[in-house]
Formats: sequence, structure tokens, C-alpha cells
Amino acid sequence: MAVIRFSSLEQVNKRKPVHVDPPSKDVADYFGINVFDDQKMRKFLSGEAYEHVKRAIYRGTPIDRKMADAVAIGMKAWASERGATHYTHWFQPLTGGTAEKHDAFLEYNGNGGVVESFSGKALAQQEPDASSFPSGGLRNTFEARGYTAWDPSSPAFVIGDTLSIPTIFISYTGEALDHKTPLLRALNAVNDAATVVCQYFDKNVSQVQANLGWEQEFFLIDEALYYARPDLSLTGRTLMGHASAKDQQLDDHYFGSIPERVSAFLKELEFEAYKLGIPIKTRHNEVAPNQYEIAPIYSECNLAVDQNVLVMEVMKRVSRHHDFRVLFHEKPFAGINGSGKHNNWSLSTDTGVILHSPGKNPKSNLQFLTFIVNTIKAVFEHQDLLRASILTASNAHRLGANEAPPAILSCFLGKEVSKMLDQIEEQVTNRKMTPDEKTELKLDIGKIPEILLDNTDRNRTSPFAFTGNRFEFRAVGGSANSATPMAVLNAAVAAQLRSFSKAVDELIEQGVKKDEAIFQVLRQEIIASKSIRFEGDNYSDGWLKEAKKRGLSNITDIPDSIHTYESAKAKQLFVSQGILGENEIAARVEVMYENYIMKVQIEARVLGDLAINHIVPTAVKYQNVLMQNVALLKELYGDDYESLSGNRVALIREISERVTEIKTMVNEMVEARKVANKIDLAEKRAAAYSKNVFPYLDKIRYHIDKLELIVDDEMWPLPKYRELLFSN
Ligand code: ADP
Ligand code: MG
Repeated sequence: MAVIRFSSLEQVNKRKPVHVDPPSKDVADYFGINVFDDQKMRKFLSGEAYEHVKRAIYRGTPIDRKMADAVAIGMKAWASERGATHYTHWFQPLTGGTAEKHDAFLEYNGNGGVVESFSGKALAQQEPDASSFPSGGLRNTFEARGYTAWDPSSPAFVIGDTLSIPTIFISYTGEALDHKTPLLRALNAVNDAATVVCQYFDKNVSQVQANLGWEQEFFLIDEALYYARPDLSLTGRTLMGHASAKDQQLDDHYFGSIPERVSAFLKELEFEAYKLGIPIKTRHNEVAPNQYEIAPIYSECNLAVDQNVLVMEVMKRVSRHHDFRVLFHEKPFAGINGSGKHNNWSLSTDTGVILHSPGKNPKSNLQFLTFIVNTIKAVFEHQDLLRASILTASNAHRLGANEAPPAILSCFLGKEVSKMLDQIEEQVTNRKMTPDEKTELKLDIGKIPEILLDNTDRNRTSPFAFTGNRFEFRAVGGSANSATPMAVLNAAVAAQLRSFSKAVDELIEQGVKKDEAIFQVLRQEIIASKSIRFEGDNYSDGWLKEAKKRGLSNITDIPDSIHTYESAKAKQLFVSQGILGENEIAARVEVMYENYIMKVQIEARVLGDLAINHIVPTAVKYQNVLMQNVALLKELYGDDYESLSGNRVALIREISERVTEIKTMVNEMVEARKVANKIDLAEKRAAAYSKNVFPYLDKIRYHIDKLELIVDDEMWPLPKYRELLFSN
């Protein structure tokens, strides 16, 4: 397809849906068929090997070489049955996405022949020689080795002919080079700290797990249109494009009926996801045209993160069967809603209690309030770090835009829970409470569940909202790997729970009764974190002012935000809990700066190229048509030509002016890049990109979008927003 205009969208809209039928009507027949899950482990492993893996999963105990061999044999037997001939260690490098290097099961048998085999060593550890992944200097050129090591807590799976083994990716000296390692460490920390707190309420709790249910938003764009927009295919977002006369004003897409081709894509996607044990439960249209959402049933956090990363890969693959491209970018189109990945998060015990869900009696509700208050306090305490965990070059376009929360962290609790916290604040005192006061408070606390049931108020503008039995971290970006925000959140909550139990224990030691000690510390934390609680509209200008008055931070510059990782507070949080060491933090920060620089650099190059090679020549061509027309009018009508040429003379001038502006600014942008590139220190270079290069993107775009409105539609070289958004 050459230039795609609205009139030629017919070809796109006539594409036939491709239906892929699952092998059975009953999902249970194929759910998890390609996952080496508990059921398969029981079947393919010896009792002893099975017990070892289970212990490794639940207790984090190491698996020795002999057991690893036994597991490898069982895993290989199963994988071969599923058609696997190769295996790979599957990991999540800091570049984003996933990485894999496939090896055949093939080995020499020592007698001149070959056998298929898979050893415990190959299962447990590999050296993928992945030396070109960013490491922030943790691997210098002499010691460029990185290792992948099996993560038994996330089950292996088969895709195509390959057995994929989820792994962590670490340097020769054991430092984290990936997203998963710090997450696993943070999950351990929160398990330890939360279990201690649970002991105040229930001695039977021996384990606490973090849960995650992600909601993935995305756009689907027809492949032909995608390829016709180099900015979209190279940077993931449109760098230019005037708003369509109609986009989402009517809200007619949200929860609307799903177009047939999209629905065929979603069906195949679900089928593929189910085979991989990913329990996709929800699918619906989102607010923007061509925008959709899927969400699974929540699960343990590490597994959920892996499943999200995996499903994103599956989505990219399956979308192509349907001539679609899937966009995860947080803001592919200016002026309309972007895509987030809401992270629904909670803690739960091995006794089956969701700690962020109200209980049935005053005691379990006090536990519930304890976890709510400590979560809020953790968000308050580490608001800057939480922001840093989600503020990426791409997500920055979404945050603070009209439909997304600003870069200010705040918590929404809802009327009833807020009221409870206010009550504790008012009723509890530092002196001993009278029995009556205690009874009253406990009675009130006992009432929470009934009230919550019919308390369906929701605040969809909040970046961190309580939604009945969990918190929803909505600020996470659509293209993000949730491991990082989840590592930071769990680390922050772990540290807070530790400081909470320390304070409670101190009071108990001073002779204060347990209940009362808990109440007193809760009260202190409620007071200390009050400013982070906000029930109003986070999108409003009023909130920006109010938040400032409250002293909440609002960092929108990305390099500034990345810098938060190196603050004393952040270091204390990570280092003291063994989540990241000082040099791991430094390395990660370096990678984040470099990533940011690269993103802006690529966008600047693509925009410069499109502006100079596509837009300017087109505008000049159209200007020539106008000039010719005016010249001919003059020839025919002499001095009367001016009144007969309408606004064409003015248009000719406007085109000249805009073209000049564009050319000048593209040159300036190139110069700004050259200056920035000479700066040695990544942090300073990133700052130069943010302050001196990035602003040109919008300024240049402004003139291009104005030209789009003037130039003949037939000549315009790129599909416009209305074409991109209204085809499927
Ligand atoms: P909504 O759009 O109303 O927020 P969705 O149904 O789209 O809700 O997604 C909610 C997500 O939250 C799902 O993945 C769901 O499984 C998950 N979820 C539900 N309860 C919990 C919980 N206690 N902890 C973590 N995630 C949860
Ligand atoms: Mg939600």
C-alpha cells in the first residue's frame, strides 16, 4: 500500500478475521498443557526430586547437583513429549523484553553417535555470553561473563520446539543484571517482615506471599498502517500527527463490542496463554479507539511478572497472524488515552488470608488495618523511589496527561477505611485506654467488612488506590516490566513492616499490652503519613497545588527521578535488606540513564529524518502547486488575482515560515545532540538530553501538525491519526 488515506481504509477494514479454534471446548483440557507445573512434576519426578523442588519453591532452599540432574531428566522427558528438541534459559535483561539462547538437547554419546540429553548442570546454570546486554559497568570487558541461574519458583514451559527455563541473570561476582533478581530478594524481604507482623494476630502463619494481578492495556494497529509510519515502528509512538476530528470524545469505544478481527486475535491469544497456564480472565475495549485490555486472575508476584512478560511476547507473535501490530507504548498517540499496566497488589498468608482484605472479626480487622496503614506509610516514605520505578521515557508522556495520574504519588482509601483511620487517630491516645474506649474502637473496627461490601466507590484517578482487597498501583506503564515497581513496592513495605514490629515490640517490652501497642504505633504511622492520602481528583489542577502545599514531591524530569535511586534513603532501603548492593544500584542507575538517552536520541533522529525527508519536501511540493496556481491567476486576471486567490497567498507564506522553522529547529536539535554526546558522565549526558534535546520533539511536531492541516490530503506522506485509529 502506498499512501494510506481514509478513503483507502476499505482494504484494511475488509481483512478477514482469522479464526483459530482451540482443540477442545473445555479450557481445562488444555490449560497449562505446556507448563511443567505441579501436576507434571508429580508425574515426571521421583518423590525425592519433587520434594526438593517444592522446598526450593516455598522455602528457597538450594537444590544440589544430584537432585538437579534428577529434575533435568524428568523435565526433559516431559518437554520431549511436548515436542521440545531445544532448551533455553529465559531471562529478563535490563534492556526490557526477554532474552533467550537456544541449545539443542544434543550430546555425543562417547561411541561416535549422538544422544539427546539434558543435565542438572545445564538446567541450573548457563553462561549465555550475553556480553552486549547493558550491565552498567558491572562486567568490564575482561570479565564480560554473565550467568543465568534457574529460578525454580517460576515453572518451565514449552513454546514451539523449545523448553524455556525461567532464570535470573547475574554477573560473575553474583551481582544482579536483570529485573528478576531484585524482585526475588524483595519478595523474600516482605515475606520475612510480614510474617513477623502476622504473628501478633495468628501464630499459625509461617509464610506471606505478595500477589500481583496485572491489567495490560494496549493498542492494536493494522500492520499496513504500522509500516507506513516509521515513527511508530521505530519508536513505538507517533512523533507527529494532528488530532483526529473524532477520537474518544464520545466514549463510544470503552466497553463497546469488540470488532471481529480483534476478537479473533484475542481468542487465539487466550488459547496460547491458557496453554502456558496464564489465566486470562478479562478482555474489553478501553477508552481510546483501537485500545484494549486483558487481565488474568492474580497470582504470586514473581510468577505473575513472568507471565506478563511472557504474554507480551505471545501478543506480539499472535498479533501478526491477524495482520495487527500490538503497541504497548504508554502514549502512542498524543491527545488520547495512553496505556498503563495497573498492578493489583496484595499480601496473603499461607493460612489463606488476604492481609489487605477486611476480616470477619475485630482481631482480623485490626490485622487488616495494620497492613493498610503500613502500606500507606511505605508509599509515603518511598514516594520518590516508587515514582522512579515507573517513570520511564515512554511512561512520562502518559503521566500527567489528561487521563492519567500525575507524577505525584498519593493513596486513595475510600470513605470507610479513611474514616477508620481517622477514628484511630482521634480515639487512641498514648495513655492507657479505658475498657470502654477499647470496646468502642473494636466494635467499630469489627464493622468494616459490612461497610466495605456496599462501599463501591472507586477513584480511577488515583495512582495507588485501595480497591477492597488490594491496592492498585496504576501508575505503572504499559510497556514496563512490573518486576521493578514490584521490587520497590515490596521492599518499601518490608522495611516499613520491620520498623512497625520493632516499635510495637519496644512498647510491649515497656509493659504495654499487645493490642494497645499496635494501636499506638498505628496511630503514629497514620499521623506521619497523612499527607499521602487523597480522595479527590488526581487529574485536577487543584491537586497539583494542594500536593505542593502538603509537601509531596512531584518530579517530572526523568534523569532527576532516576537520581532518586542514589539517595541515602533509597540506598538504606535496598542495602539494609539485601535487595541491591551499592554497586548494583550504581550499575542500574547507569543503565537507566543510558536507556533514557538512547530513547530520546532515537526519537530525535527519527523525527529529524521524517521532518526533512518526508514532511518538508511534501510541504514544498504543495506550496509549488499553490504558487503555480497564483501565478496563473495573475497571468489571467492581472491585478485582480489577489482577490481571486482566496487565502492561497497567505498559505504560501505560512508554508514557507513553517518549513523554515522546522529546518532551523532540526539543525539546532542535531547540534544539541552533538554537544550532549560529548559529555562523559551518563547522568550529565541524560540531563543534557532532557533539557536541550527533548524539548525540540514537541516544538518541531507543532509545526508539522499545522502543516498536516494545510497540505493536500492526497500528498500527505503518512497515515493520519484518523486512519490509524479508525481501522480494524
Ligand atoms: P478492574 O478493572 O475493576 O480494576 P479487573 O478485573 O480488570 O478489575 O482486574 C483486577 C485484577 O486484580 C485482576 O487481575 C484480579 O485477579 C486482581 N485481583 C483481585 N483481587 C486481588 C488481590 N487480592 N490481590 C491482587 N490482585 C487481585
Ligand atoms: Mg483495575
